[in-house]
Amino acid sequence: MKALICGISGQDGAYLARLLVDKGYQVYGTSRDAQSASFASLRLLGLENKVTLKSLAPTDFRSVLQTMVTVDADEIYLLAGQSSVGLSFEQPMETLESISVGTQNFLEAIRFVGKPVRFYSAGSSECFGDADEPCNELTPFRPRSPYAVAKAAAFWQVANYREAYGLYACTGILFNHESPLRPERFVTRKIVAAACRIAAGQQQGLRLGNLDIHRDWGWAPDYVEAMWRMLQQPTADDFVIGTGRSHALRDFVAAAFAEFGLDWTQHVESDPTLMRPTDLRYGCADPRKALDRLGWQATVDFAGIIARLTGYERDRAAGHPPSLT
Ligand code: NDP
Repeated sequence: MKALICGISGQDGAYLARLLVDKGYQVYGTSRDAQSASFASLRLLGLENKVTLKSLAPTDFRSVLQTMVTVDADEIYLLAGQSSVGLSFEQPMETLESISVGTQNFLEAIRFVGKPVRFYSAGSSECFGDADEPCNELTPFRPRSPYAVAKAAAFWQVANYREAYGLYACTGILFNHESPLRPERFVTRKIVAAACRIAAGQQQGLRLGNLDIHRDWGWAPDYVEAMWRMLQQPTADDFVIGTGRSHALRDFVAAAFAEFGLDWTQHVESDPTLMRPTDLRYGCADPRKALDRLGWQATVDFAGIIARLTGYERDRAAGHPPSLT
């Protein structure tokens, strides 16, 4: 089996590449500029010589079509696109184009080539907006950021091509999932890295936005397993993926700082200038369909995620080989 992972340089791309290589797939991965990208995550996972890397610009139909024809994959995972909610308020058009136009180009290219390829599109729980209840596949979308609007558009593009042209195309509506491969722009990694530096006397304090938000945080390697399972079903469908548990950011901060022997209240302040124009108060998955149909459920809970993230940071700071399992 041959798989094409678009966005292989990112967190999910690297973990998915590892999963597929371990399953015996021939894995191709793309970056917008494969000549200059660092692929640090692939190196950390020891995969740099186990995958074939190509350049692909999701917003350029010719680039998408040419790569698709050259690679001739059985499964395509579209993970590429501007992935930060915060940045999407600063770069709304880049966000919309990279996600929505990118998805459209892939769907059109699959339709044009005519091969019965299986297609996974990286959807997001941000599409649900500020839901008060755990969200499932029937929960209406109320997107509250340019990122979420773009992901909602991509979701309907996939659903439309599945219905209109019979494509095997799925969207995984994934809640937040974390790992040490997340860049520090994302809040969990930012908190853990800062706590480690503060404990070592290398940083004074940490300023964060709204500490009262609640999120359903999972462990990224679990989530790429769900992506793969979605493409092994008899028919294509969309799935909500999450742990089904929600925690306050304040609790994440307290637990992460405690791992380094710190009282977070002495070091962290909430800064109104870091708050987003619109933010979501609460996010929680209802992942029962994934359990019923995919046999998938999260294996790492909130405490386990914090232990893994802080353990990685501590090992790295001490110069020990960090664990990425
Ligand atoms: P990353 O940000 O780690 O990786 C995203 C990839 O997209 C990068 O490899 C990058 O590749 C590419 N990319 C970044 N910006 C652009 C752009 N403007 N245009 C085209 N390509 C771009 O994301 P994750 O691995 O964390 O997530 C994978 C996908 O899943 C993303 O689509 C994300 O939105 C979605 N998602 C992630 C969640 C999470 O919690 N991690 C939750 C829900 C959805 P390169 O720079 O090499 O071209």
